[in-house]
Amino acid sequence: MVQEKKFIGILFECCNVYRRIYVNKEKNAYEGGCPKCNSKVKVTIGLGGTETRFFSAR
Ligand SMILES: [Zn+2]
Repeated sequence: MVQEKKFIGILFECCNVYRRIYVNKEKNAYEGGCPKCNSKVKVTIGLGGTETRFFSAR
C-alpha cells in the first residue's frame, strides 16, 4: 500500500520560488501554479504513486 501524499514541494525555476502543490480532483496528478508568473505545472501520479518528494518546474 502506497502512502499517498496530499501535496508535494516544487521549485518553480522560472521565478526561483518554492511552493507546495496539491492533488487534483481526479487524484491522478499534482497541479499548481507559480505564485509569481502563474506558470502551470502538473506532476502525474503513477500507478505506484510518486516517490519523489521534490520536483522542479521551468
Ligand atoms: Zn514563475
